[in-house]
Amino acid sequence: MEDYKAFLRKFREKNLKKRKVRDKNKPIAVWIQDDIYRDFTIGKSLTIILRTEGCFYAKEGGCLMCSYLMDSSPEKITSENIINQFNYAIEKYKEKLKDLKDFSVKIFTSGSFLDDREVHREAREYIFKKLSEFENLKEVAIESRPEFITEEKLNEIRKYLNINVEIGVGIESLNEEIRNYAINKGITNEQIIKVIELAKNYDIGIKAYLLIKPPFITEKDAIKDAIQSANECIKLGCSRISFCPTTIHKGSLIEYFWNKNQYRPPFLWSIIEILKNIKKENKNALIMCDTSGVGSERGAHNIYGCKCNKIIKERLERFTLTQDIDVLNVECECKKLWEAYLEVESKNIVPLGDERKIFSLN
Ligand code: SF4
Ligand SMILES: [Zn+2]
Repeated sequence: MEDYKAFLRKFREKNLKKRKVRDKNKPIAVWIQDDIYRDFTIGKSLTIILRTEGCFYAKEGGCLMCSYLMDSSPEKITSENIINQFNYAIEKYKEKLKDLKDFSVKIFTSGSFLDDREVHREAREYIFKKLSEFENLKEVAIESRPEFITEEKLNEIRKYLNINVEIGVGIESLNEEIRNYAINKGITNEQIIKVIELAKNYDIGIKAYLLIKPPFITEKDAIKDAIQSANECIKLGCSRISFCPTTIHKGSLIEYFWNKNQYRPPFLWSIIEILKNIKKENKNALIMCDTSGVGSERGAHNIYGCKCNKIIKERLERFTLTQDIDVLNVECECKKLWEAYLEVESKNIVPLGDERKIFSLN
């Protein structure tokens, strides 16, 4: 295990040298999109990705599928920089936000917003205070590893915000072996259960990010794992489930396996099966699915280039907004190949890579 950790650290260090210095007073990205609120109504959300010094866990090696650290700053980021980034984002959309009946704000750092090393308390409090001044703000979402979700931080949030607040936590899987060996998340189930309970005392929701298809397991096992994990997270009281189908990030360890054809991102058929299964079992649960990268070679896809990829991507987006499983009723010839892949893979000793190399497709 120590060798593995040392290998991960070294792998990350090598990539980190490629980080570029960017404008420290502008966020990585900011945009407005349609979104679903916790009460199942639809509105707009403003997403701001702040540039910080990056996830500190990633610097020790981090999670196998993640290379968000590459967007972080190789130089020191001060509270003033963070505040300037936030103000830049708000200024850019000020007029649009004013006209909306209501909206939500998602502030992400591609790490932990509640880690003082990434966002200092001063900057966090400034942001919470500014947000509290919007009369039409309905929800706020942030993200954090569980070790930073403490009474102190939850009090800090509630000091300023009395609206719906959710903290996204990368739970990835509720199977500890998968989470810690296949993903290297470094988080126990005990920690997860503790923060869900703690957040409930503050009426703050925990949004469970679940990874669809961690490395080293078969597609069939990944389907089973996603379904089991979501069902358990719902039982534990997570405010919503947000599925993240694996995308091959540049500079991540999963890319290394993908390049060797030892990993394939999930099929969209698998995602449809997972979503339908969970929604049928948990009609009142809020289930979402991230579609970034979907349809591309590096993202979740059916046969690469098949026409159904684009259709299913749109359907997944519609499902997230409407929560209607009927929109996932899609058929395509290539579903047969997915079934064959599941079958062949379950007879193989290790998970398979790209089907084009297995079934001699062009
Ligand atoms: S997935 Fe989250 S916790 Fe893991 S390395 Fe990336 S940013 Fe850090
Ligand atoms: Zn197809």
